[in-house]
Amino acid sequence: MTQIAKQNFISGQWQSGEGEIENINPSDTDDIIDRYSVASVAQVKEAVASANEAADVWAEVSPEVRADCLKTIADEIMSRADELGDLLAREEGKTIAEAKGEVGRAARVFQFYAGEAIRVTGENVASVRPNVDVEITHEAVGTVGMITPWNFPIAIPAWKIAPALAYGNCVVFKPAELVPGSAWALSEIISRVGLPDGVFNLTMGPGRTVGDAIINADGVDAVTFTGSDATGKMIRTTAAERGARVQTEMGGKNPLVVMNDTDLNVAVNTALNGAFFSTGQRCTASSRLIVEAGIYDKFVDALSEAMKNLVVGDARDTSTQVGPVVSATQQNSIMEAVERARTAGAEIIGGEPAAAKANGYYLRPSLVLNTSSSDQVNRDEIFGPVASILKADDLDHAITLANDTQFGLSAGICTTSLFSARHFKRKAKAGMVMVNLPTAGVDYHVPFGGIKGSSYGPREQGSYAKQFYTNVKTTYITA
Ligand code: ADP
Repeated sequence: MTQIAKQNFISGQWQSGEGEIENINPSDTDDIIDRYSVASVAQVKEAVASANEAADVWAEVSPEVRADCLKTIADEIMSRADELGDLLAREEGKTIAEAKGEVGRAARVFQFYAGEAIRVTGENVASVRPNVDVEITHEAVGTVGMITPWNFPIAIPAWKIAPALAYGNCVVFKPAELVPGSAWALSEIISRVGLPDGVFNLTMGPGRTVGDAIINADGVDAVTFTGSDATGKMIRTTAAERGARVQTEMGGKNPLVVMNDTDLNVAVNTALNGAFFSTGQRCTASSRLIVEAGIYDKFVDALSEAMKNLVVGDARDTSTQVGPVVSATQQNSIMEAVERARTAGAEIIGGEPAAAKANGYYLRPSLVLNTSSSDQVNRDEIFGPVASILKADDLDHAITLANDTQFGLSAGICTTSLFSARHFKRKAKAGMVMVNLPTAGVDYHVPFGGIKGSSYGPREQGSYAKQFYTNVKTTYITA
């Protein structure tokens, strides 16, 4: 490979940095996809300064200009969905079908915010004083720093970048160092739509240097982060300490309750999808299956049988249903978590290393049985194709178990009872509730986020994103 590494985009210019990262295919570690330039701390500062300089111009441009830019980005992503989906599957390891779906979602997100850009409304409220008008308007926050994880390499950047630009903000974006390919391709598309220099910046590299420089830069008015629990907590503290607005999306330990009255097929397919699709590497994955006693044995048998038939293999082989996990580090941490559970007395079904044609990080899905809710396997996010099964006496016990977690992102129930569904919906301590649907897999135009340890700050996505990406101004006028 003699070509120069893919560059960072700073102040409207493509720039090399001070090192490189290799993007490796987790389905075949002999396949080096490309090399990506690491931004220096000085380059992050330059990106922030150029964003600050562009902020007023971009905030005051006609909403129609912003809408047109977003629409152009959406159209190009959509027209290149096959190619971008292939790159995404190759760098992250989700199946080609899942990867193309994610690319389509990214395009739809830009399309949605193209509309939102021209729908920024305010309010007029009657004043308590005579002859005074009160007006409430929304204005851009300024420069938004974005730090994204590896599990959705294009959708998560899209759902942060699109609303930021729609509401008139400038962006300094750092993708996860494990998957810079899709982020770079998206940035390259954004670089060609005619944004003023400095409105959009891409600075690639590790969290501890590039990410750290972003969260600590005084010119970064708001920080949005999606990633692990520990990093999210640190970023929240650091950004808030210097008065920046902050939004963090972190882990989940999402319950799927299966009631005696459920249709067994629906429950098994819902669990299979929620727990193991996208190789279980979704913050909304169903990692705790809470099953009512009367259907427990039948459910475990049927799910174990369905798991045996799952095809684990190369992400880009169209027959594959479960791709590899993303990295050796991730593979080891998943296997260690399962081994710890086994040592603590759990029974494990599945989980053996998968036979595959190439060197990759393949793991067969596992079920963890005979544990209690307080065991570590039911507390910490594992972020892989692993689900534990807990037995519940009845609906109330199932709800108690479902809520027995530090997290509160998504919670699901499989039932044919309207009473159980409604009761669960009201009692689940989660930001999102699914009835007869997997805990993972959400629409792109409605709010996404959780409560408790899962999320901090306003919701992402849909029109609710406005709460994070705008400041509210209250104006009093008399004449
Ligand atoms: P994971 O362990 O799954 O990679 P992280 O939370 O560490 O999850 O990573 C999510 C994102 O946060 C990545 O883009 C990563 O580079 C970034 N990151 C990690 N550590 C820091 C840090 N100290 N400061 C800022 N960003 C960080």
